[in-house]
Amino acid sequence: GRTPTPGDLEVSHLTFRYSDQTRKPALRDVSLTFARGRSYALIGRTGSGKSTLAKVLTRAVDIPRGTVFLGGTDLLDLDLEELRRWIAVVPQRTEILAGTLAENIALFDPSLLHRAAEAVAELGLTAWVAELPGGLATRLGDGGHVLSAGQEQLVAFSRIMVRDPQVVILDEATARLDPVTEARVQQATDRLLAGRIGIIVAHRLSSVQQCDEVVVLADGAVVEAGPLASS
Ligand code: ATP
Ligand code: MG
Repeated sequence: GRTPTPGDLEVSHLTFRYSDQTRKPALRDVSLTFARGRSYALIGRTGSGKSTLAKVLTRAVDIPRGTVFLGGTDLLDLDLEELRRWIAVVPQRTEILAGTLAENIALFDPSLLHRAAEAVAELGLTAWVAELPGGLATRLGDGGHVLSAGQEQLVAFSRIMVRDPQVVILDEATARLDPVTEARVQQATDRLLAGRIGIIVAHRLSSVQQCDEVVVLADGAVVEAGPLASS
């Protein structure tokens, strides 16, 4: 596999149909440019194709050659495992594993353990970690310390941050957060997306306002794409 040059993420005339989808395709002739350093709110009704687009961009589904490019390189020419480090997805639900917070952040990859503290600091979460009973050594999952849904998101962000990807896709959780956690999630989101390509499948109005651009999907097609007028 090749290392992509840092650059834009481009989708060109992509039509995608799930193999068991007999009628209309999930994505229809989608063309979009996601520019480095900018963040995009991806919105649309249920079934409009938001999650499918996220799957396409990580090659979680098969796509035709010549439809998606990262830094000018066809996604199909990139090593799949590496690709998933360059284009990272924060899922809607975070799975917490039995282990320490640091192990959860590194996903038990010994070569990433030493990056956990750094990632937490880069996200502005040092104070939050200090409030936990054992800091980065706090045991989570399976009888360990229990995190709130919002705190689980902070773990998910830290997991992405240690891997330093070029593109971050955030499938935002719908859960209500307490004000303190909400503020932390907001700040961590900003820091996670800074200097990268950020794509937020937005469920909260607040994150839409933070984004530079908005993309609206309807029935698998892009019906609107452009800069968000800031207040
Ligand atoms: P939501 O807001 O509910 O998460 P979405 O915008 O993410 O919706 P998708 O999940 O991308 O929508 O679905 C787009 C279309 O593709 C829908 O018609 C859906 O039924 C269909 N679809 C999604 N996943 C599959 C699958 N695994 N197999 C077949 N069809 C699918
Ligand atoms: Mg979805």
